[in-house]
Amino acid sequence: MSRKVMITVAPTGSVTTRAETPYLPITPEEVIEETVRSYNAGASVVHLHARDPDTGAPTSSVEIFRMYLDGIRQRCPIITQITTGGGAATLGLGYEERFRPVEELRPDSASLNAGSMNFGRKLFPNPPEVMERYAKRMVELGVMPEFEIYDLSMIQNVDVWIRKPGIVPTPYQNSFVMGVLGGIPPTFKNLLALVESLPDRDTWQVIGIGRHQFTLGVAGILLGGNIRVGFEDNIYLAKGVLARSNAELVEKAVRIIRELGFEVASVEEARSILPLRPQERHPQ
Ligand code: ZN
Repeated sequence: MSRKVMITVAPTGSVTTRAETPYLPITPEEVIEETVRSYNAGASVVHLHARDPDTGAPTSSVEIFRMYLDGIRQRCPIITQITTGGGAATLGLGYEERFRPVEELRPDSASLNAGSMNFGRKLFPNPPEVMERYAKRMVELGVMPEFEIYDLSMIQNVDVWIRKPGIVPTPYQNSFVMGVLGGIPPTFKNLLALVESLPDRDTWQVIGIGRHQFTLGVAGILLGGNIRVGFEDNIYLAKGVLARSNAELVEKAVRIIRELGFEVASVEEARSILPLRPQERHPQ
């Protein structure tokens, strides 16, 4: 049986604007609709940021995240993930505010950024004590941390601050974010270095920014990993051609995965591949 490859969709993010693409989902209805379309196309995980429905600006509003989760869960079983970093560089949010939607809503997973960095010209603060605090609380809540690795040093951060002290039971799910200015340069050689630095049992995906979404994403699939697509990271289906929906980017990933001789993981399969944490109940 060929390997199952998981596709995550990140439909909106906090940086992409309507000026860049008119197809960006902004309102809860649009984000929910794009998520359902992406699920129908083959995505098994959705990574969510909240947007102010009127202005399109990023927000940390628990109520908007709640609308997303309620709407998505009513319509499809996709695995849900909430950011804990999105507002940090763009909004200058404090550590408690960044975590509040996870605390209140208990998604299946939340991103956990594995170190501080310059994100473009902005500071993206993720010091060890915050990584530890977020990780401990996620374990208590039954939320799977996804470690966002922006550079080789961040694999070491996870090892030293989280893995060795046993704060989160292993294995881990990791994302290699490649192409952010201030993070690791987006090259094949660097991807290989990242992959070779992870423990074997960990799962991982490539988040390639811009045109690297598919080049490094596909390299990651060939190296045994998974892929994230969506407007948070890339708005183009091909050079100069805007994707009209996140689902078009998912469909492209599906075509490539199948052409390479792999299969696309269903939500059920992704649930057994990922180190998700047991939850006593799903929040309403
Ligand atoms: Zn994000």
